[in-house]
Amino acid sequence: MPRTLNRDLPKAVGTSVKIAGWVDVRRDHGKLIFLDIRDRSGIVQTVVTPKAPEALEIAKDLRSEWVVEIEGEVKARPENMKGEGDLGGVEVVAAKIVVLSRAQELPFELGTEVNLDTHLDHLPLTLRSKRSRDIFALQATVLDAYRASLMRQGFKEFVAPTLVGGDAEGGAAAFRVEYFKDQVAFLATSPQFYKQIMVGSSERAFTVAKIFRAEKSATTRHLSEATCIDFEMGFIENEREPMRVLEETIREVVQKVAAEHSDMFARFGTSAPQIPAEIPVLTLKEALATLGKKEAPDMDPEDERGICEWAKRERGSDFVFITRYPTKKRAFYTYEDPEEAPYSRGFDLLFRGLEINSGAQRMHDYDALVARMQERGLDPEKFQYYLQAFKYGMPPHGGCSTGLERFTARLLELPNVKEATAFPRDMSRIDARLTE
Ligand code: ATP
Ligand code: MG
Repeated sequence: MPRTLNRDLPKAVGTSVKIAGWVDVRRDHGKLIFLDIRDRSGIVQTVVTPKAPEALEIAKDLRSEWVVEIEGEVKARPENMKGEGDLGGVEVVAAKIVVLSRAQELPFELGTEVNLDTHLDHLPLTLRSKRSRDIFALQATVLDAYRASLMRQGFKEFVAPTLVGGDAEGGAAAFRVEYFKDQVAFLATSPQFYKQIMVGSSERAFTVAKIFRAEKSATTRHLSEATCIDFEMGFIENEREPMRVLEETIREVVQKVAAEHSDMFARFGTSAPQIPAEIPVLTLKEALATLGKKEAPDMDPEDERGICEWAKRERGSDFVFITRYPTKKRAFYTYEDPEEAPYSRGFDLLFRGLEINSGAQRMHDYDALVARMQERGLDPEKFQYYLQAFKYGMPPHGGCSTGLERFTARLLELPNVKEATAFPRDMSRIDARLTE
């Protein structure tokens, strides 16, 4: 008999089916045993009665997370016995149970609230919890919607390298890797150079890339390995164009997430983010003045939270753009218009108190770029490979980078970005905790 997915059971009332999945919960009522069976489509109740004595014997041994196949008849549950959701209206009366895999005793029941370290220590188990399944279902939708929106807007996806010969940002802390011919390679801190190079090839390029940061920061917003969705576009007037593309993309992602996971936000004690017709844009100067602060070269995490509260209160927006940071605080390739100096055409997008995206118009003139490198103490010789893109004709261009984990974490208001990372790496763990 072919397998039926749990979600299709309401249409199968009165027929015999075979379902398969994990024992989510087992309730032993002596003569009757109830098993909640979880598959990828949902959870359904099965009941094992003395009418199926062999199945009942097996059901007595079953425990949480055992993997089973169950054959039986689908019945509508009486009105006063209905459970939650669509599947709450049906149950499977078991005729036959086959155990596909046993589970050892669990260290704790799935769904029990455990501290973050315990959660991370047991990810192969805790990723099965409702909370984790929600988080990563939402993240998959974010990725899908992000890609779809960029493709609709004329961007072509490419795959960026993870092993790089030089550290892209020329200074950001990078992990070193032993490479062939006694050379040192690095794990990419950003796909920046490659997406700029791809502007020369496809004009509008994007990539979903792994980035690696060796900064020794133990915060709730930093990972050693993160995923960024980066795009870059040619023929722009200024940074407003990539900001508009980003705004459009974020709007489409939020709409899709809200449509597909409408019930999820309430489970996390939040709601779908608010985006007004236009996301507010403030210069750094305006943002600091709004907060009653003196001029400063950057915002600290408290300022970021403060300005997000302002945007929510005054503009009904969970998002706010900050522009015109001092050029010296931004990456070397950030464009500065002489009339706007010493401020650059960089921007950050803040979402519910946190930076989730940074972007800018970039420098596109070869000589100016070489001069900027020299100003910053970088050796242009070491960047010859990248500089070819500018030697051979590069339009004015710009783009930005969204951190997937941070975006996901703020969507559900998770306190720590690690919860929005299936397998987080940080200063004290790669899967298992590191020992000194
Ligand atoms: P921060 O100042 O918060 O450390 P950043 O400005 O160094 O971040 P960018 O280089 O601008 O980060 O990277 C673009 C985006 O990638 C960030 O806005 C963020 O969403 C994400 N990101 C960068 N570094 C990390 C990290 N270590 N962990 C998680 N996400 C990151
Ligand atoms: Mg940034």
